[in-house]
Amino acid sequence: MSVCTAAVAPAICAPLPVLGGDVTVPLATGGEVAYAALDYAASAPALRRVWDDVAAYAPYYGSVHRGAGHLSQLSTDLFENARRTVAGFLDCRADDQVVFTRSTTDSLNLLAAALPAGCQVFVFETEHHASLLPWRDARVTFLDAPRSPRQAVETLRRALAARAPHGSALVCVTGASNVTGELWPVRELAATAHAHGARIVLDAAQLAPHHPVSVRDLDVDWVALSGHKLYAPFGSGVLAGRADWLREAEPYLAGGGASRRVTRRADGGVDVEWHDSAARHEAGSPNVIGAYALASACEALTEAGFDTLVAREQYLIGRVRAGLAEVPEVRVLSLFGDDAPRVGVISFVVEGWNSSHFAAALSAEYGIGVRDGLFCAHPLVRTLLGGEPRTPGECAAPGAAPGERSLNAVRVSFGAGTPDEHVERFVGAVRELVRDGAKLRYRTRDGRCVPAV
Ligand code: PMP
Repeated sequence: MSVCTAAVAPAICAPLPVLGGDVTVPLATGGEVAYAALDYAASAPALRRVWDDVAAYAPYYGSVHRGAGHLSQLSTDLFENARRTVAGFLDCRADDQVVFTRSTTDSLNLLAAALPAGCQVFVFETEHHASLLPWRDARVTFLDAPRSPRQAVETLRRALAARAPHGSALVCVTGASNVTGELWPVRELAATAHAHGARIVLDAAQLAPHHPVSVRDLDVDWVALSGHKLYAPFGSGVLAGRADWLREAEPYLAGGGASRRVTRRADGGVDVEWHDSAARHEAGSPNVIGAYALASACEALTEAGFDTLVAREQYLIGRVRAGLAEVPEVRVLSLFGDDAPRVGVISFVVEGWNSSHFAAALSAEYGIGVRDGLFCAHPLVRTLLGGEPRTPGECAAPGAAPGERSLNAVRVSFGAGTPDEHVERFVGAVRELVRDGAKLRYRTRDGRCVPAV
């Protein structure tokens, strides 16, 4: 079955062009097949448009904020334009700052380093480790996994109501789960945070590639995202939002670019006047190609139109979910239930299979790249797998302690560049593997499950 049936508008038939579409990989069973990249939640392929933009700019590349030469000035303009493009893409408020970082992890660590003294942090245990772990010096309250969006809001409301009414507080929440793909009630959580005098940062690593994100409309204080999940794999990320905490914080990195004026004191030390702008947290030579690529991806997604992208992705989600539902041995992991709105990220376990074994067979026998494991969200995946019987199999689950259950899952994820054929092949492969078993034997080598041949 194809997405391009008569019932579907032709506009959603075509995936956006991405690199790697014509790459073939060897099958352990013999022959070659076009690689089906179904691990977008880890890193999405580069958009062709992003790659072309970067290639066109590369000869003009120059140092940013430093040189007097023409190419330096051009690069500086492109870098600052990229900042404006990202601000527009995220629908930031006029006085928000857009800080270029390396990734979502980097962005959230930057914010963690900029928290006012004594700030309390509230974070659901279901978060990706990038959202769960950076708040080491703050007083953190970990909130139990909610079983519905409404329960999430209620859990946060209760936790905030119980906090001491003075001092600053921050809520950190994901927009779309990197495990279940489920959307979180961000607007409601933001309203709840603000009603209790707290601020909120949105981890949009998985949301922004799939849905429009409006800082204004969601009324979040900051948003963090990564270029490599947004079809721009050039090592850039963003923290965008309120300027005040960032302006008052010590620079994330100390060095050139962040400092406006450095003077030698009579006692031999140095005095530093730091910038108040985003540059305060961007010390060192910035990643201008990364920022430019990220902005190019923002433009490409905006031009393609999220209405179209979402419609196409929802169709693909429907195909995968329907295909998996036809295999009784498959259990899809979900926190909020079947009807929850979601993006193209689906995790599951297969009765009788070790997830590493299953993912290895998808790769070796079908040329399909998925991910297995706990997806850097250990507490969430353990909650979702709770009570799961130990799965037999030749491959030891990577990272599982001796005697521990085989607590890992398979994750399939896709997006704007995914052709129908990839999800159809995936659904067919799951059906076949469960019905017929793997064609090859597998073993664990260097912590990875690989064909024994
Ligand atoms: N948050 C979520 C929801 C994620 O899925 C990821 C990446 N898997 C991150 C944060 C961290 O992103 P990065 O590795 O790009 O820092």
